[in-house]
Amino acid sequence: MRLRNIPGAREHIEESIYVVQDYKEQKGHWAEKFGNQNPIYIEVGMGKGQFIYENARRNPDINYVGIEKFSSVVFRAVQKMEEEPLPNLFFIRMEAEEITEVFARGEVAKIYLNFSDPWPKDRHAKRRLPSKEFLGRFAEILVDHGHVEFKTDNKDLFDFALEQREEAGWIMIAHTFDLHHNAEMVEGNIMTEYEERFSAKGNPICKYIIEKP
Ligand code: SAM
Repeated sequence: MRLRNIPGAREHIEESIYVVQDYKEQKGHWAEKFGNQNPIYIEVGMGKGQFIYENARRNPDINYVGIEKFSSVVFRAVQKMEEEPLPNLFFIRMEAEEITEVFARGEVAKIYLNFSDPWPKDRHAKRRLPSKEFLGRFAEILVDHGHVEFKTDNKDLFDFALEQREEAGWIMIAHTFDLHHNAEMVEGNIMTEYEERFSAKGNPICKYIIEKP
């Protein structure tokens, strides 16, 4: 997701109390940042933050961190927090590749990937968030038996994710090629912005839940 450049967006988020600026200094100290010991769930590539905001609103006993690389998109998430602030949600504007510099071993209880960029060229496979390279980074920051939950309407990307899961030795907890018609897996589902858009067009949504080995 890349919105047209919004003048002043970068400056606005650099001054926002909802965006953690010194995020590498928080490594190992996120519980202090939130002021409690609640589990921390993160979304990598949150876009405008609809999914993570709604999760945080419904689950006050869980702490959330939304990660997104584009200022113009983080800006939209910040605007939502300014309208209705939540104490258990922060944002970071960063590239996901740096994630192990931001969270310590075992500091994150769950990772969400939603409608991640497909990077269709083979030579860019390592940039795909469900790649085994990223799973390796995620394993470093997750708690023992921590989960990654991934949703997409892109069947090629989902097939790739299934292969990478196997190669990386993660445990399959559940998966579906049509989330919205899977009674068990759709229960409590919170729609992302892209999920609303693509399911309205009739695209089936794929989802897996995998566990760190
Ligand atoms: N998760 C949202 C949803 O489902 O509606 C947004 C999906 S959008 C297609 C993917 C988002 O991930 C974009 O906003 C993009 O900028 C962000 N993104 C992709 N790769 C990223 C990376 N390596 N680090 C941080 N953000 C990334």
